[in-house]
Amino acid sequence: ERPRLIDDEEGGVLFYASSSSTSSGIGYSSIEKQRQRLPVFNYRTAILYLVETHSTTIIVGETGSGKTTQIPQYLKEAGWAEGGRVIACTQPRRLAVQAVASRVAEEMGVKLGDEVGYTIRFEDLTDQNVTRIKFLTDGVLLREMMDDPLLTKYSVIMVDEAHERSLSTDILLGLLKKIQRRRPELRLIISSATIEAKLMSDFFCISKRRKGKGAEEHGPRPEPAILSVQGRGFNVQIHYLEEPVSDYLQASVSTVMLIHDQEPMGDILVFLTGQDDIEAAAQLLTEEVQNQKKKSSRLIVLPLYSGLPRAEQDLVFSPTPRGQRKVIISTNIAETSLTLEGIVYVVDSGFSKQRFYNPISDIENLVVAPISKASAKQRTGRAGRVRPGKCYRLYTEEYFLKEMPAEGIPEMQRSNLVSCVIQLKSLGIDNILGFDWPASPAPEAMVRALEVLYALGILDDDAKLTSPTGFQIAEIPLDPMISKMILSANQLGCSEEIITIAGILSVQSIWVSIRGAQKELDEARLRFAAAEGDLVTYLNVYKGFLQSGKSSQWCHKNCINYQAMKKVIEIREQLRRISHRLGIVLKSCDRDTEVLRKAITAGIFANACRLETFSQTGMYKTIRTSQEVYIHPSSVLFRVNPKWVVFHSLVSTDRQYMRNVTAIDPSWLLEAAPHFYQHQTANYVAY
Ligand code: ADP
Ligand code: MG
Repeated sequence: ERPRLIDDEEGGVLFYASSSSTSSGIGYSSIEKQRQRLPVFNYRTAILYLVETHSTTIIVGETGSGKTTQIPQYLKEAGWAEGGRVIACTQPRRLAVQAVASRVAEEMGVKLGDEVGYTIRFEDLTDQNVTRIKFLTDGVLLREMMDDPLLTKYSVIMVDEAHERSLSTDILLGLLKKIQRRRPELRLIISSATIEAKLMSDFFCISKRRKGKGAEEHGPRPEPAILSVQGRGFNVQIHYLEEPVSDYLQASVSTVMLIHDQEPMGDILVFLTGQDDIEAAAQLLTEEVQNQKKKSSRLIVLPLYSGLPRAEQDLVFSPTPRGQRKVIISTNIAETSLTLEGIVYVVDSGFSKQRFYNPISDIENLVVAPISKASAKQRTGRAGRVRPGKCYRLYTEEYFLKEMPAEGIPEMQRSNLVSCVIQLKSLGIDNILGFDWPASPAPEAMVRALEVLYALGILDDDAKLTSPTGFQIAEIPLDPMISKMILSANQLGCSEEIITIAGILSVQSIWVSIRGAQKELDEARLRFAAAEGDLVTYLNVYKGFLQSGKSSQWCHKNCINYQAMKKVIEIREQLRRISHRLGIVLKSCDRDTEVLRKAITAGIFANACRLETFSQTGMYKTIRTSQEVYIHPSSVLFRVNPKWVVFHSLVSTDRQYMRNVTAIDPSWLLEAAPHFYQHQTANYVAY
């Protein structure tokens, strides 16, 4: 039979309903009742029994079934946090850590930071003596291993969202497997929305050889237990596009308006890719609503992405006022990490931002790429929690069936491994290629990472961490290249400035970009612009911010993100403390931008490029791999095109664009990394 067509009169998008559907869901009420109604509650006894009797328990359950918020509470109720022990629950995303921790604190009726706390990079809301349930990013738990390699204070570690296969999650799983051999009393829970449970189970199965040793006979069973939590659900009807669209942003806006006009009440969740397209869509929607002649019920438009200020996050989680409809425009954070109440409609763009690394060109960037079928299924599931829902996929059924990959690729296999290698080395794991990974990284990527670490002076000829440089760099919770900048700044006498720059590079962006206000933003940037490049420009912004008395009005006037600047001040303060611990005495170079740029070059020399003089288009080529790159239009050096530059990161759209660019003298490259550049640059420097 022919599927029913849903037509948008304005000619925007055409959908038809498919016959397949998927399900999930439950309703609301008081906190205690609500807790008991969660699917995972039926498995409370089973979970506690399995954790008691097995070293590793794998728990698979749909998003919203209560894994993250309930299991740590069950464990505490069962006594796993007694005697000063702590229950840890890791998440790949910072925002999810904050959100679930505050939810659990609320459910337990305690102040966040007391019994229930969280730690993310540069933010620690725990109390060593009081906190019993601790949420943290997997990256932070890896760092904790540097001080306490066996993670002795934890009785149970729940590695949540394991299906995401983030780089840190995979490293963590490999290390936890090692720790388990030394600490048989430690319990692991691997939990996720969808997982190849068998793969994880095989990975954690402790080898048979160990069996039969007397001491182990009474301990927990070495082979992992697998538990699948069955949810109750509502159907979600899936709609596909008749024809593919080229502009998914516009299509998602049209689809939201279509739902808002034609469908009964219920909130809408839109999956886009990142802050830029989310803000753009939010603005388009707000305009659409204002222009509508027909007075339909109100539409509340809310963005959701990491780095969103706290107050705006709270709006996303607060109940929708009666008679109104919320539309939440999110990154894939709402795919499985966060539970949003009241969603009935999902609009799936079919894309997300993903990290990709090419070991041949040595280029890593975040690109907007198609999601997998597994992700699409998760996104769809978000529509069926309160009642039957609908999911609008902004792609065709044929595309879904024939072209969409079944599963995503683990991040380990599409990342630059520099940070990963340094982390393992600092934990004393020398044979990195022989390390027991859940998914093996590409050997070429490993070789590239070792090469850079060697050039940075972090590894010695035996591929061991150098002392003190390597160990110091491992201590600083930043990209090793930035940490190296700080150490070089110490020698060059500009550490005050470099920790400011490091702070600014740690936040998403210090500029506020508003669609349609590009001119104001460009003008504001010009007011601070330094001929030496973006990083020196940031110092001007920081100085202006301090001189204004850290004023939010000043930020507003200059298109600067006040929240981001406050965060920079906090991060800078932490870097100051870390530097102090490493024996670095902060010193200012009083705007001697040459030493500043030498320190910058000492960190990111591997990202050096030269302008192709024959080209009129501003084309640069990287020194190492001769990749074509261009200065990003948001850079103060756009169109200035100095002959030699180093950049901090690349974004790729139609071309590879360099962001955070600094003009340099090529002789500094040889100074900073003689082994690296000797041969390659010799002719260039003469030139
Ligand atoms: P899972 O980890 O299995 O995806 P969670 O433990 O995150 O599930 O969520 C379980 C339930 O707790 C949700 O279905 C929702 O009802 C409630 N919940 C979770 N987070 C929040 C929140 N921030 N605000 C309100 N309710 C929430
Ligand atoms: Mg969860």
